Amino acid sequence: MIHVFGHKVPDTDAVCSAIGYAHLLRELGKDAKAFRLGELNAETKLVLERFGVETPELLENAAGKDVWLMDHNEFGQSADGIEDANIIGVIDHHKIKFSYDKPITYIALPWGSSSTIVAKLYEIYGVEIPKHIAGCLLSAILSDTVIFKSPTTTETDREIAAKLAAIAGVDDMTAWGIEMFKAKSKIGEKSARDIVLNDYKVYEFGGRKILINQVEVIDDSEVLARKDEIIAEMQKIKEEQGLFAVLTMVTDIMKEGTTLLVVADDVAPIEKAFGKEIKDNAVWLPGVMSRKKQIVPPLEQVMA
Ligand code: MG
Ligand code: MG
Ligand code: MG
Repeated sequence: MIHVFGHKVPDTDAVCSAIGYAHLLRELGKDAKAFRLGELNAETKLVLERFGVETPELLENAAGKDVWLMDHNEFGQSADGIEDANIIGVIDHHKIKFSYDKPITYIALPWGSSSTIVAKLYEIYGVEIPKHIAGCLLSAILSDTVIFKSPTTTETDREIAAKLAAIAGVDDMTAWGIEMFKAKSKIGEKSARDIVLNDYKVYEFGGRKILINQVEVIDDSEVLARKDEIIAEMQKIKEEQGLFAVLTMVTDIMKEGTTLLVVADDVAPIEKAFGKEIKDNAVWLPGVMSRKKQIVPPLEQVMA
């Protein structure tokens, strides 16, 4: 059986692109199943609930399995045992940090979500998208593009989202997007640790490891009111994991900008990357919504 899964610390795109692509593979006569590599966030749970989709099974280890990687290509973000899996293909919209010892299918497009690519593949193969899959894929596009506000959004994302919305019966995409972000914004009950490890990826630039987390909220005041507690937790995680820095992007999708919380051995490269001074472990970055497009490249440029 083919195992289809997105990255660890799954987001809606990781989960829904896997669900959508596993379904397409089955329609094409393959024995395929979607998996997840961790607990679902509140947004993804709401999406699966609304469209009546079963939660994918948790995959503990990929060793010895035939796999498709969705919404990621770095082994560090992938399943345990990935080094010993048989990778059939990759569908992704991130920077390519991948090499493999045999030819595989690799589909990479600089679109707003991996789910946009999956929807396009249905079109290419001439397979009809069922209503529940259309709802999932649409939700993933809305999530990854921050309701089309992120600079990662392309015309293709808008076009495909409109088609999916029609199939899924979503009359108002913006209203549904805001409902999804509201579910994700509820941080009231979350511990500082859960906030810092909300949606994180670890990068290595010039031998220095940086954990970059993102919290996307409708109103940043609730998170920022807990700043001291969050910074203390970031410090703790930095020491535990021997990191150069821990960053938390508190992205306010209404204000369309990010407060970057910073804990680092040396803030100079981070200040240089964004051309701004970090005061009390924080800096406001107007217009910044995307980790992959607006945070990672400037840091990599300065530090690599
Ligand atoms: Mg993702
Ligand atoms: Mg994605
Ligand atoms: Mg995201």
